[in-house]
Amino acid sequence: MASADNQKVKIDDQDGRGPVLIADDGLIGAKEARQTDLSRDAAGHPGSDDGADSETTGYDERIQALEVENTYLFDKRCHCPICDSTFSTKAVKTGKDRFIGTDEDLRPKHKNVDYVKYEVNMCPHCGYAAVGRVFDRLTPWQIQNLRTEIADKFAGENPHTGAYSYDYAIVRYKMALLTEMKKQSKISESAYLCLKLSWLYRGAYEEIVKYADEAKFGCLAEDEPNNSYSSFKDSYEEFEKFSGIKEDDLKKLSVRQMTAFKECRRNELLYRTQALQGFMKAIATEFPPICDMEEATLNYLVSELAYLCDDCEDAMHFGAFVLNSRMASPKVKDRERELIEKIKSKTAKKQ
Ligand SMILES: [Zn+2]
Repeated sequence: MASADNQKVKIDDQDGRGPVLIADDGLIGAKEARQTDLSRDAAGHPGSDDGADSETTGYDERIQALEVENTYLFDKRCHCPICDSTFSTKAVKTGKDRFIGTDEDLRPKHKNVDYVKYEVNMCPHCGYAAVGRVFDRLTPWQIQNLRTEIADKFAGENPHTGAYSYDYAIVRYKMALLTEMKKQSKISESAYLCLKLSWLYRGAYEEIVKYADEAKFGCLAEDEPNNSYSSFKDSYEEFEKFSGIKEDDLKKLSVRQMTAFKECRRNELLYRTQALQGFMKAIATEFPPICDMEEATLNYLVSELAYLCDDCEDAMHFGAFVLNSRMASPKVKDRERELIEKIKSKTAKKQ
């Protein structure tokens, strides 16, 4: 386990370079956090100044998309309960973007903005970070502990302007997760942040897939032939599934892009698994509503997460709670029935 002792937490601007985050919980190690963010940085996200961006597929389109996203945002003023300073954070203007539905694990999707990126408030002065719902919900002991464990070790953040890249949003959520562990509050709150991190990694690789397609592989670095086909075999298959781009064309993608895609997929699964384990513990130890979710909704979510983690037994177990619930809405029950068909199909294939 990584130790937070005698180290400074430093948040870089948008690019994730340098020491990002330290945690002693076993969920995120400093090494892993750095590797993750470096690999995402290597994908050429805005903010990197290593000269690779201009060579990277879809870079201009990504910049334009962030500029559009910024028009849906405003600067919200916050007061930090840890260091008593005020700061501004980006938030989405209410009702401006169009809601277009949810993924099976309840991740909300909008036309132009990924709302999930903007749920965490993070103080740039002391590093305290939390979702708005619990930002001011602190006991005197927690405030004192966070001053010692977070604020005293935080080396500051470079000024940030404009819409958040996925790299930067992920760093903010990892700071919120670190904060949550130091608060030593409910396991459900950590599980909630892990769920959101899995969604952000999904958003990140969806972005890679989207712009790889639009750029038609037109701006690859010629000096970096992708000769690591075998190590990306599984990733090519997944990439093809998401993008519809055939495997032969995908081999024209750079090592940087494929590495970033593979890392995002790996981290999505890692945080989804942590979310599943955390929510299962929360259901056993906490009373609903949990993280503002009613019992039936949370049981459905856990059933879906278990299915996605190939844990068909727990997926069925929690699915039965949904179907037998008197409080569950017809909509949740319908979703669970569809899910149970998929669980049965997956179980049958395994046998
Ligand atoms: Zn602060």
